[in-house]
Amino acid sequence: MGSLNDVIGKADWKTEKHVPVIECPSEVKADAMFDIKVSVGKEIAHPNTTAHHITWIALYFHADGEKFAHQIGRYDFMAHGEAVEGADAGPVHTHHQVITTMATKKSGKLLAVSMCNIHGLWQNEKDVRVT
Ligand code: FE
Repeated sequence: MGSLNDVIGKADWKTEKHVPVIECPSEVKADAMFDIKVSVGKEIAHPNTTAHHITWIALYFHADGEKFAHQIGRYDFMAHGEAVEGADAGPVHTHHQVITTMATKKSGKLLAVSMCNIHGLWQNEKDVRVT
């Protein structure tokens, strides 16, 4: 029997286009709101077509010393050129990136997971230190 660890890809986002890129300050003040940008394809563009696209990104925070992670948000990308006329004939595409805002009392690790409709799950992480 497998586990999620067996199917979630992990790689350098500069060479693997599916890996979510987390951009935020490495050091923050306790309880002070800060912005986090999570995107897919920052260095190498990922397709955004009806047949092949990123369907969602989820973001979690695992505070140092705690057993469980907290979910920060889950962001769905729902428009990929679908239309009555057929695939890729529609006028609308959602780009696979999001900016959200959070605060934390504790240092910890941001964990991002992205989902490609063809190439599955990918993860990345970034430390955030409360100073
Ligand atoms: Fe893909």
